[in-house]
Amino acid sequence: MKEKEKKFVLKGLSLNELNNYFERIGEPNYRGNQIFNWIYNHISFDFNEMLNIPKSTRQHLEDECDLKTLTLVKEQKSNSTGTTKFLFETFDRKKIESVLIPEKERNTLCISTQVGCPLDCKFCATGLMGFNRNLSAGEIVDQYLMIAKEIGKEKITNIVYMGMGEPLINYDPTIKSAEIFTHELTKGLSRTRITISTAGIPNKIKELSESNLRVKLALSLHSCFDDIRSKIMPINKKYPLQQNLDAIKIYAKKTKTRITYEYTMLKNINDREEDVKALIKLCRSIPSKINLIPFNSIKHMNPGGISNELEPTLQKNILEFANKLRENNITVMLRETQGDDISAACGQLAVKS
Ligand code: SAH
Repeated sequence: MKEKEKKFVLKGLSLNELNNYFERIGEPNYRGNQIFNWIYNHISFDFNEMLNIPKSTRQHLEDECDLKTLTLVKEQKSNSTGTTKFLFETFDRKKIESVLIPEKERNTLCISTQVGCPLDCKFCATGLMGFNRNLSAGEIVDQYLMIAKEIGKEKITNIVYMGMGEPLINYDPTIKSAEIFTHELTKGLSRTRITISTAGIPNKIKELSESNLRVKLALSLHSCFDDIRSKIMPINKKYPLQQNLDAIKIYAKKTKTRITYEYTMLKNINDREEDVKALIKLCRSIPSKINLIPFNSIKHMNPGGISNELEPTLQKNILEFANKLRENNITVMLRETQGDDISAACGQLAVKS
């Protein structure tokens, strides 16, 4: 069978690129603004709905362009928290997941940037599935668009790059997607509602601080000690903690934002007295806050090695740990486990391709 000719995908293009496209096909370039508005504000994926665009142009777009990158395959809602996990398939039949977390005054969407992940963090299910490929900017923004369409009136208020993959390794598409989300023409989302989470790629953190994005940055810290961090996050051997701390210091200063340290609590590994002391010292040097995350089991992946030995810190010990930090004037947030009954909690995203 002859393969269907590939069309030009409009989702994920910057406003400039859209405008240039319309100039190329002999249309006024403000058509780019119109399409941008239809896609990102009206969440429309059908050229025929775009009535401020002439019919002949709509026909041309229909023939030449595509507004589809992902197919929604499955939607699973947690009974306990209302967290919903969305499974998507890409054009080349890869599977990725996104998670929508409803909270009191916000709806946070957790999106993926890669199919799998190359970092192999020992506590993370995505790491255990290995790396397949980077997602395009279109595939990243489409997770937001498809879910926004699916949930209708309920608006997505926050986006966190905490799904599958390491955003700063897939740097350009990640930044392009965040530029779209924070663009002045995109209503409803702003830079303060977007968080990019990284395991720590120092040169990319510096590059990000030189961009105009100024989104919130989270560093997956998990330990202040290089030997322990390297054991559970092999990327730390390549980029030791100090290199990342130097980079986030620059980021915090340039963007005037507070850094979030994500800290997944692992019994006897990072929940000891010396960990509290090291965290207190660290927080005094950079404007920051700590997000304590209960460790979500990855036993369903049947991992070997150290992954199999990891145990969660008991809830009462997490509270004690938090109190000790708070007594030292450190801002601590306790994250509740969201959606572990559907394997949608932090670090549980993994799908067979
Ligand atoms: N690669 C990026 C984003 C994906 S991980 C990063 O490392 O930040 C998103 C967050 O989930 C990170 O803080 C990660 O450490 C945490 N996480 C991963 N596996 C987890 C697990 N099993 N339980 C709890 N948190 C986990």
